[in-house]
Amino acid sequence: MSSKNLMLIAKNSICLLIFPAFLFAQSGALWRVHDLYRTQPPIITPPQQYLPVKPPSDATVLFSQKQDIEKWQGMDGKPTKWITRDDYFECVKGSGYIKTKQSFGDVQLHVEWAAPTPAHGKSQGRGNSGVFLMGLYEVQVLDCYENTTYPDGQTAAIYGQNPPQVNACRPPGEWQSYDIVFHRPHFNSLGRLTSPARITVFHNGILVQDNVDLWGGTDWLKYRDYEAHADKLPLSLQDHGNPVRYRNIWLRELEENTPTTAPVVEAKIELSDADLQKYVGVYKKKEENDYRVELADHKLWLYTLSHRKYELIPQSRELFFARLTAIDIKFDLDNTGTPKGLSYTFTGDTEYAKRAE
Ligand code: MG
Repeated sequence: MSSKNLMLIAKNSICLLIFPAFLFAQSGALWRVHDLYRTQPPIITPPQQYLPVKPPSDATVLFSQKQDIEKWQGMDGKPTKWITRDDYFECVKGSGYIKTKQSFGDVQLHVEWAAPTPAHGKSQGRGNSGVFLMGLYEVQVLDCYENTTYPDGQTAAIYGQNPPQVNACRPPGEWQSYDIVFHRPHFNSLGRLTSPARITVFHNGILVQDNVDLWGGTDWLKYRDYEAHADKLPLSLQDHGNPVRYRNIWLRELEENTPTTAPVVEAKIELSDADLQKYVGVYKKKEENDYRVELADHKLWLYTLSHRKYELIPQSRELFFARLTAIDIKFDLDNTGTPKGLSYTFTGDTEYAKRAE
């Protein structure tokens, strides 16, 4: 074999190795969008639920009675043409998606829906609608009761991205529930993604999407990357041409996740090692050596009998705070500034320990 051929084989091998890695790095996906070779979620029978689930006191109710249709509008801002009954509304073919007048970011969302009965159509043509978080990220609504479709387009799929863990559908005509926890994506000032949207879904009480990262907006037939958008956007529901019904829609707006930071306790006075040395010793509650104070690395440390260790931050010559835990230590000083004992305060309870050495 010529050296030219060897080089060609080597080059092709590198391409074969790099190409899938590159593809997956871009999309995070191991499957192509709507891939029928993907494993079908196993079918399970969900337990009987007691619907409707009443909203908690802090919920924003988006639909519980006929008049609540006023909280929704067409995508053009005009009144929706969806049919409204007493406690539900129904999609009308060709009337278009509807969206809430209010905008939302991170939410806990409860939705009840029912597919048309008797069932008509097959695959994506049977009882198709969708719950679009922020109008961009679809949790699929579809009648997958005895109806097969591509797994990432199943009932409760994150459409085109992630199939549900199981198919927990009820028969068409029966009310079903989605309980969704949604965290919006975050973008920096340049519009670049800093954290993806995340979705958890319970379908009829069954966990089917477990804190799944989205790779972008959901779409039909294609991979769609993120595009920077507002922190809050309307919730929308899809008109896919099927008379799907919705009722009892409510949500709770969630506090956005903020990075956990250690509480900061700063020293109010500076004490030298010679000053701090005065506090070093053993402090006894009754007969036990309950507290030991040591000096190390120019810092004062409190050790408890339970072998816990706390850095003490001076607030005054008498009062010290533990840096990371809500423990206050007040030293009982004599007229030379030397501790005779200490008071240990935690959760409102104070114990006194007398200095033993
Ligand atoms: Mg849909």
